[in-house]
Amino acid sequence: MMGEPAKYVSSTNACRQCTPLGACLAFKGVRGAVPYLHGSQGCATYMRRYIISHFREPIDIASSALGEKQAVFGGGPNLKEGLVNVIGKYSPEVIGIATTCLTETIGDDVASILIEFDREWGAAKKGEHPQLVRVSTPSYQGSHVEGFHATVRALADQLALSSEGVNEKSVNLFPGIVSTADLRALREIVEGFGLTATILPDYSDTLDGPALDRYMPISPGGTGIEEIKLMGGAVASVEFASLLPRKLSAGELLKERFWQRLDTLGLPLGLRATDAFFSALSSISGESIPERYKSQRGRLLDAFVDGHKYLSGKRAVIYGDEELALGLTSFIAEVGIQPVVVATGSSNSDFEDAVKGVTEGLVLEEVKVVDGVDFSEIEALAAEAKPDLLIGNSKGYRISRELGVPLIRVGFPIHDRFGGQRTLHLGYEGALSLFDNLVNAVITKKQEDSPIGYAYI
Ligand code: SF4
Repeated sequence: MMGEPAKYVSSTNACRQCTPLGACLAFKGVRGAVPYLHGSQGCATYMRRYIISHFREPIDIASSALGEKQAVFGGGPNLKEGLVNVIGKYSPEVIGIATTCLTETIGDDVASILIEFDREWGAAKKGEHPQLVRVSTPSYQGSHVEGFHATVRALADQLALSSEGVNEKSVNLFPGIVSTADLRALREIVEGFGLTATILPDYSDTLDGPALDRYMPISPGGTGIEEIKLMGGAVASVEFASLLPRKLSAGELLKERFWQRLDTLGLPLGLRATDAFFSALSSISGESIPERYKSQRGRLLDAFVDGHKYLSGKRAVIYGDEELALGLTSFIAEVGIQPVVVATGSSNSDFEDAVKGVTEGLVLEEVKVVDGVDFSEIEALAAEAKPDLLIGNSKGYRISRELGVPLIRVGFPIHDRFGGQRTLHLGYEGALSLFDNLVNAVITKKQEDSPIGYAYI
């Protein structure tokens, strides 16, 4: 007798976004770049909508707008025609071409199509065309996190081809998906050690720039292609990607290509992880930690002492991008909160061990660690774990409402609050601001639930 057919399992409210969305975000951190999706129109529309409502900036994403015919016969002609249109409309320095589910499934060979485009452009004697960078981002493989890192690696791979212009004071920094405030803070920290940072990508201005008095088709800011070309000459690379497969690591590529020093770290979130980042910078630069950061560290420790009575023994559910979820877990464990569930929508076989590593000796209860889950699974685990706090992006709001538990909004996306794109998470100051938020969320909840109405807590 045949066994029962496997139950159909669908994803309900995915805890991740699609792969080329990560590519668009990364391309937005390159100066003069236009992200261009090779696929059907709806993909670009969804991603624009999603990114705009987090960053609250206008974002153009071009599309080769394939229809039924191209789905059968291939999208090469559309891709080339779209490139001509984008060049005419935006005069970009770079066009970042990411594939989508459709073009990966029909098997369009983007590299060959771009060689043809180059030949045809040359034959028409149109002069130089913008730099074209391509990345393969089928959304049935990975998530926006993989799409983001694959794009950063593709930029390094296709542009950083020599170690010319060796600069002992220059450091490459691959931060992953962090906020615009984090990007600005990271640059300041690196410069505090007398180093210059090539941050890839850097969307701190393109996605969070000052108000402009005239429309600009491409927002100013971002990492220039000349800077990316010089990355091979840097003294070291620092990459916040402790969970990233090496084949997606830009730092690993530069290390192999140029024998460059590589420091692979977790996100500098909380005391220990920020100490590790500062120690790496100190070792690279040969300089000691600047006084202002020693003071910031001291203030953070002081806050830990003052706030401990509010947070000690509280229980938290953490979810989101794997590197961020890991960093948050490390942080809350060191301030005395018990992480009860740590979840990520990405599939990553190293996630559980990494969480165990950062919580070792700091937790009283075993932490439930899950990867590759959606929000319905996170909700079921959270209901069972009876947390005092939820920590993650705004997609967990429904769970927080359902369970009556405060949600501390961090990461991407934040669609239901103002300023989520410029929340500082990293460094000692980021940890301090996050710590204040955690303590105040606990105090607010206590006040709201109290029949007395304490005004002095
Ligand atoms: S999942 Fe695939 S089809 Fe859907 S928006 Fe993303 S790339 Fe397009």
